[in-house]
Amino acid sequence: MTEKIKQLVDKVKELLEKASSVAEIGDIRVTFLGKSGEYTGLLRGLKDVAPAERGTIGKLINEGKVRLENMIAEKEAYFRKKEEAKKLASEKIDVTLSKGYLIGSTHPITKVKNEILDTFIGLGFAVKEGPEIETDYYNFQTLGIPADHPARDMQDTFYISENILLRTHTSPMQSRTMLSEKPPIRIVVPGKVYRADDDATHSPIFNQIEGLCVEEGISLAHLKNMLEIFAKSTFTKDTKVRFRPSYFPFTEPSVEVDISCSMCGGKGCRLCKGTGWIEVLGAGIVNPVVLENCGIDSKKYSGFAFGFGIDRIAMLKYGIPDIRLMYENDVNFLKQYK
Ligand SMILES: [Zn+2]
Repeated sequence: MTEKIKQLVDKVKELLEKASSVAEIGDIRVTFLGKSGEYTGLLRGLKDVAPAERGTIGKLINEGKVRLENMIAEKEAYFRKKEEAKKLASEKIDVTLSKGYLIGSTHPITKVKNEILDTFIGLGFAVKEGPEIETDYYNFQTLGIPADHPARDMQDTFYISENILLRTHTSPMQSRTMLSEKPPIRIVVPGKVYRADDDATHSPIFNQIEGLCVEEGISLAHLKNMLEIFAKSTFTKDTKVRFRPSYFPFTEPSVEVDISCSMCGGKGCRLCKGTGWIEVLGAGIVNPVVLENCGIDSKKYSGFAFGFGIDRIAMLKYGIPDIRLMYENDVNFLKQYK
């Protein structure tokens, strides 16, 4: 019996050395220590052992069983660990790899802004940027906007204090430039502006481009020519421009500028409300009062100024129905404009 115990223990030892997986070790356990396993059978054979030896042999069988259990458990733990490591390695996510890279793209507003700036740079304009937090002085006073003008109302403007506000247009850079530079001046000013307004066509924050040209002998004809070049390069070569009389405090005369509808080509459609024209910007000849406020001799120099919303141009160019879409940062919306 002692011999039989030793034989089985050696046999299990040998099989364990050859084993190479948790599953194989499980099989060994069942084969030898299972309910009808070979080693378990020894205990059943104990009844045939002479009663005098039964205690000693029984003890040996139990010791052998404990040894086998330990050997199996040890080997099993070894392979379990190894297999887990292998599984982890195979399931590891390599964050540097992906199914096609998600490449970012330029926001439609930035794209349109850059295109427009390129056009004006080509016409000899310098690009200037100014502060978004402005003083009442630069935002209103120097531009000839009187204290009782509705644009200065709390309902329209975000005030920080009585004299500090979020600029309502990029025009303060006109006076800032005219106060610090001598003509000839040709600048375009892109930037964010703020107004207390929020619906499908108005956002409390939007982007403008302001243009200013102050030289000797500047007239509305120069303005119209520049804006025609802008309209044709931004939309199509066939785009037409028309002026309608208007009023702005800082220009005299002032004009509303329409372009022929990019969707119907002027025949009339839903976008242009059947008129064939779309209003895109306000412009005019710089009011002599503004020039004088900024220390420029209005008898010698004249100038034109214009301003428009980049967002509105982007909406027209890409057929975007709601301005708010451009500020929601929905990737599915933005990736259409790659
Ligand atoms: Zn139309």
